Amino acid sequence: MTPLDILRNIFGYQHFRGEQENIINHILAGGDALVLMPTGGGKSLCYQIPAQIRPGVAIVISPLIALMQDQVSALQQFGIRAACLNSSLTFDQAREVSRQLRQGELDLLYVAPEKLMTPRFLEFLESAQIALFAIDEAHCVSQWGHDFRPEYVELSILHQRFPNVPRIALTATADGPTQRDIKTHLALENAKAFVAGFDRPNIRYHVVQKKTPQNQLLNFLKEEGHYGDAGIIYCLSRKKVEKVADWFSKQGCLALPYHAGLDNQIRKQNQTRFLREEGVIIVATIAFGMGIDKPNVRFVAHLDLPKSLEAYYQETGRAGRDGLPANAWMAYGLQDAVLLRRMMEQSEADEQHKRIERHKLESMLGYCEMTTCRRQALLAYFDDHLPEPCGNCDTCLEPVATWDGTEAAQKALSCVYRTEQRFGVHYLVDVLLGKTTQRIEQFRHERVSTFGIGKELSEPEWHSVFRQLIAAGFARVDVEGYGGVQLTEKSWPLLRGEQRIDLRKDIKPKVRKEKKYSRSLRKTFTNTDQILWEALRTKRLELAHEQSVPPYVIFHDSTLEDMVLQRPQTLTEFAQLSGVGTRKLERYGKIFIEVVDAHASQYGDTQPTSTISAPKTDETILSESVEITLEAFNRGLSPEQIAAERMLKPSTIYDHLSQTIEQGQLELRQVIKLREEEIHDIEDNLLERPTEEQHTLKSVFEAFNGAYDYSILKCVRAHIWRECG
Ligand code: ADP
Ligand code: ZN
Repeated sequence: MTPLDILRNIFGYQHFRGEQENIINHILAGGDALVLMPTGGGKSLCYQIPAQIRPGVAIVISPLIALMQDQVSALQQFGIRAACLNSSLTFDQAREVSRQLRQGELDLLYVAPEKLMTPRFLEFLESAQIALFAIDEAHCVSQWGHDFRPEYVELSILHQRFPNVPRIALTATADGPTQRDIKTHLALENAKAFVAGFDRPNIRYHVVQKKTPQNQLLNFLKEEGHYGDAGIIYCLSRKKVEKVADWFSKQGCLALPYHAGLDNQIRKQNQTRFLREEGVIIVATIAFGMGIDKPNVRFVAHLDLPKSLEAYYQETGRAGRDGLPANAWMAYGLQDAVLLRRMMEQSEADEQHKRIERHKLESMLGYCEMTTCRRQALLAYFDDHLPEPCGNCDTCLEPVATWDGTEAAQKALSCVYRTEQRFGVHYLVDVLLGKTTQRIEQFRHERVSTFGIGKELSEPEWHSVFRQLIAAGFARVDVEGYGGVQLTEKSWPLLRGEQRIDLRKDIKPKVRKEKKYSRSLRKTFTNTDQILWEALRTKRLELAHEQSVPPYVIFHDSTLEDMVLQRPQTLTEFAQLSGVGTRKLERYGKIFIEVVDAHASQYGDTQPTSTISAPKTDETILSESVEITLEAFNRGLSPEQIAAERMLKPSTIYDHLSQTIEQGQLELRQVIKLREEEIHDIEDNLLERPTEEQHTLKSVFEAFNGAYDYSILKCVRAHIWRECG
């Protein structure tokens, strides 16, 4: 089989993505490769496909023992012969894997690096035929990153002992120094590098000003329709994790805590529930992360500011690995900036280290205060270049208004100066607004020249000015002392009028700009689509439980979405869905078609929603299929004859016709032959119903004891909807 055959027949995908095909061909030709691709880019196929073509077994080295079994299960679901070897196997299990290996029954073997390095295993490998070595999470070889694994450094001996076996190193996170380390430590200097950039176009970035962060987040989740979605909420401290998990549970979410202080058992259990169940929200400290490759995490939220953009990008990167739309949301306020600065200043690190830390924090704060495209800034930070604003971040979608803040900044900074750099933001704002509080009188600050000179701005506006000045380093908070605001070197050019500054208006316009990117497909689901979606998910979960595997290894969300849209009724139709290969077709095709059928007989819609849910305006262009039906009807064929001619179900044809009725191209009475009284009865019954029941039609169907089938009801409904607009 060719790589494309395998992609289509086994994995059920139609086309290679990006560099996948080139990488695969390079490995097939015996070359070494270094692959840098963002999370969700499709790295695994780059070695999984050659593993099935080159003779022998592919050895995949991964540090993520906890995930190996799931990765293996996912492959087995496609009918691929895979296994893993690591310390979590029982003696018998390990022996069985060794046997399979000896008998050449495996195409892929996942091993932990420490397992691989045992003399016995290496010796054994020398007697076996090896298709390739894949070194996953290759950045673990570098001390630069935070995932350094000493065992990885020893992997260079693979090259010495197996010089003719191609090696492919893969990672999603590698800046310049890390890439160099990978090449030298793994002896990959001559490997071909495939660098795909870091962009995660399906993730939408949002940063909001922190007010009541939990409520803000809850509202956001509601607005974005995240009900029932899996997500991660990051907080800084263990205590806060507990509190937040509790709060979200009380709001009716399935929210579980995760931090290093939890009992081992509970922590593990919560992680497993997150991976195996649907719609679990994990509230976690950064201890939760490495190796979470659940593909359908739909949102990642930060209630506290991460320490650096690296951390932020890695954490948000856990959203949307399946490539479907996902949200990264963060609440940020002045307190975050102050807290992190304090932590940094107080750290024991040497001056050089502190300088790096300071730079990282400043970049993070700068990101929060962006008035231009966030993705451009993020990518630029990683030396990646995005020529145009992305159109899929908050600042692109709702452009931030800015104003010339030079004068306000001067007033704020001179107020700092006049009050001797000893007071916090609240106090300073009171002075600017000319409030005579007891404290101000005590310090006689009602006499300073800046008292009351800031009445043109409101209290929150002055807070915003200070926050932005501090974030941008035009002032600092004395974190060792009493938290007073102080001037910095950068303050003076501003104060002297040699520099001007633009500030963002925090109050955003209410109207949302038209979205360039479609939102999640599921947002376009009708009520009945939603019911079918839930039914499919329930079936998937049931199958996953039976086999003790995570639901996504049965089918990804995108495949289920495709089922909702396409309503497959035959195995041939089912095979066309993205993510359905031969094996999954055999195994699950019938089961899921039954769910679609059961849904159709209950709710009467067998028609792909791509046509049903098209916006209902006269300008709507009917889908091609509907056009063909209309044309046949106008030729004088009956719906049944059209169905026979087109080899479609009569119900589908009636669906088409009901659409043309709703569009005003056909009259109801042309299509269905009922007595006037009957039509009136159905109309009356329908009109009494709430919209939701009109959509499902079930109660109407039952009201007439099934005397009129769904096709007829739909046509009458279309007529009413047309009449009533
Ligand atoms: P990575 O390891 O780079 O994070 P994966 O290899 O896990 O990414 O792939 C991410 C998702 O994309 C998976 O769901 C995978 O099945 C899917 N995928 C990979 N390649 C393709 C392709 N050519 N067409 C469609 N889907 C793909
Ligand atoms: Zn943008």
